[in-house]
Amino acid sequence: MLLGAHVSISGTIDKAVDRARELGCNTFQVFTRNPRGWKAKKLSDEEIEEFKRKMEEYNFRVAVSHMPYLPNISSPIQQTFKKSVSSLIQELERTGALGLKYLVVHIGSHLGKGLDNGIKKAAEAVNTALNKVDNNVMILLENMAGQKNSVGSRFEDIKRILNLIAYPDRVGVCMDTCHAFAAGYDFRTGDAIENTLRDFDEIIGLKLLKVVHINDSKGDLGSHLDRHEHIGLGKIGDKGFRELFHNPHIRELPLILETPVDSRGNFATNLAKCRELYL
Ligand code: ZN
Ligand code: MN
Ligand code: MN
Repeated sequence: MLLGAHVSISGTIDKAVDRARELGCNTFQVFTRNPRGWKAKKLSDEEIEEFKRKMEEYNFRVAVSHMPYLPNISSPIQQTFKKSVSSLIQELERTGALGLKYLVVHIGSHLGKGLDNGIKKAAEAVNTALNKVDNNVMILLENMAGQKNSVGSRFEDIKRILNLIAYPDRVGVCMDTCHAFAAGYDFRTGDAIENTLRDFDEIIGLKLLKVVHINDSKGDLGSHLDRHEHIGLGKIGDKGFRELFHNPHIRELPLILETPVDSRGNFATNLAKCRELYL
């Protein structure tokens, strides 16, 4: 089982590897910088070396970086779009420098300009970044919950973006279970999961699914609410996750928790829950 959580990089980025290890994870996700601003502090060579050394020492085979919150690669506003592309370029470089394999990107919002426009902008952003940065990092498009104006909550939308990418072997998909459920894809039973994954396979292709964000959902099926819940305490529930973890297409992939930390639980409790359901 490749199970991990989104860990903090507080201090220096190599500390994230310690945190993942202390949680008993064998994979993890990080932001390479403060996710709440546009500016990124440069990663020092020492930090990068230490990060890579710990990855080796603790035997982490795969880990994931996630784009910060502010960029919107589907934006119709020229200035935001340009900044978002710069940020994507920068994160591709940083992810590569850290020796990580995947960079997860939210597809974003068309801000009322329409899905077609959003899809075109997202593809343009990814193409520009991949053209500019030549490394081994794969960009993973993350499905959205279907909030107002969001791009990429339907598998069909993601496929349309992928069709426009000039570097097909450098893009894949990260599926967030909370987002997919909120968008109307059911995970509550074995049959429902089979249907959802069959849709994914027919429309996108399961071989492009590289990472799964495992989050339960506060919102109901099709609610379009991006509200993560502790595993088992949300609308997907224990049964859904047990079935999901036993699905052969999901079971072998890196599974990353982005669950809340509050009075009802934290990453340690959610990891324990996942291990119990995985057996
Ligand atoms: Zn995400
Ligand atoms: Mn996610
Ligand atoms: Mn989310």
